[in-house]
Amino acid sequence: MAAWNPETPMEDGNMTPLVIEIEEFMNSSGKKTFTAIRTILESKIGADKFAALANENVANGSNDQKRLVLKVLQVFKRMNKKRKRETALSSNGNATANYADTTALSSVGNAAPNHALQPFFGSSPTAANPCKRCGEREIDMVNMPCGCNTYCSTCARYTVEHHQRCIECRRHVRHVRSSDSRFEVQCSACGFIWDGNAQHMCDATERVIRLPASLPALASNGDLPPHPIDINKVNKVLLSTLREYADPEDIVIGGPIFAEYRFQLRDDWFDAHILDIRKRAGLKITEDNRHNFDDDDGFADRIVYRVSVSTSSRRNINGRYGPDKDRIIRIPDYQRSVLHDDWDQQKVYRATRFISIFNWVLNGLSREYLTTLSKVPDHVFEGYKQQLQSLKLKLVSLRETYFEHIYILVPKSSASIYRRTAYV
Ligand SMILES: [Zn+2]
Ligand SMILES: [Zn+2]
Ligand SMILES: [Zn+2]
Repeated sequence: MAAWNPETPMEDGNMTPLVIEIEEFMNSSGKKTFTAIRTILESKIGADKFAALANENVANGSNDQKRLVLKVLQVFKRMNKKRKRETALSSNGNATANYADTTALSSVGNAAPNHALQPFFGSSPTAANPCKRCGEREIDMVNMPCGCNTYCSTCARYTVEHHQRCIECRRHVRHVRSSDSRFEVQCSACGFIWDGNAQHMCDATERVIRLPASLPALASNGDLPPHPIDINKVNKVLLSTLREYADPEDIVIGGPIFAEYRFQLRDDWFDAHILDIRKRAGLKITEDNRHNFDDDDGFADRIVYRVSVSTSSRRNINGRYGPDKDRIIRIPDYQRSVLHDDWDQQKVYRATRFISIFNWVLNGLSREYLTTLSKVPDHVFEGYKQQLQSLKLKLVSLRETYFEHIYILVPKSSASIYRRTAYV
């Protein structure tokens, strides 16, 4: 993207590329959001100008630099929220929607008409077939080896250089060619590129990944029971990440082992991939044995790996691979609880009694309504939360154990409909 140019007028722009860049920087550097935003903004604006902003329009202990960073942080958070909602609604969470920001930046002190923020925030999409990453330039490249048409040349190059996946099919993009180039294909196992009419004999290492029929339970703290592992959940994750390399007919499910994935993949790509699986999914893939076997045309290596659940990931302990939790929801007698004495328990109860999944029971002793939803997976529960949100109610987590999660149901502070009439 172009350098910062103080002559260009400030216009409302599409902030998607900026947010994507911040995200990528966070992924590759492990830096926190705040630091990532500062770093990216500084690289866009230039170190001198960025430093100068710290002294411009200083009022109430704030300055233009701070305001700009905070505005970008707001947009970043809103965009992630929006994406999360879209992911929860559809199982396909890959799409990156364009996020046009029309208000946030124009209110930054620095963004006076003669100060350009526009060049690095991009403009509204004008291309007939806009790139799915920047939403701005025309799609003119083909991803390889997958063959999807998704990016402009700038974004395509970025995707390859940063070892990213295709936005459409989630396979790694190893190489790109221009849409009008001649027909060529790439081997997804070794990276060899050839004319699609010819044959390719792949010599990438053969690998076999085995998931045992059961995995030992993870130890918990203190006297709590150990955390059993749900093999189905582990396999779901494996399947989604190894499908890129293992053909369905080379995936064996059942028998003495739970599942077996067979594929070929060159060493550096494989090493990066299992590191990624460990980081993102908390699964360890370790070498079990390696043997030399007599292939039709010479000797080849075949390496067998074993899957285990990493004990160093907190999410694993918290139930990522454990059983679905029971959810216990309470409508407290708000007047008895110091925090929410203004809310009317009956009003909350009446608003939620027709939601069929809830089966409220009044506890005579504590005078609270209780419902238990047994064994609800996280993504299903997310839907219930949204249903409550539309009623201006929220769940506040009270206590979470490995097998159950207890919440209280509380009106949002703006929801005056749940206040006691005595206060009106
Ligand atoms: Zn692009
Ligand atoms: Zn693709
Ligand atoms: Zn190959």
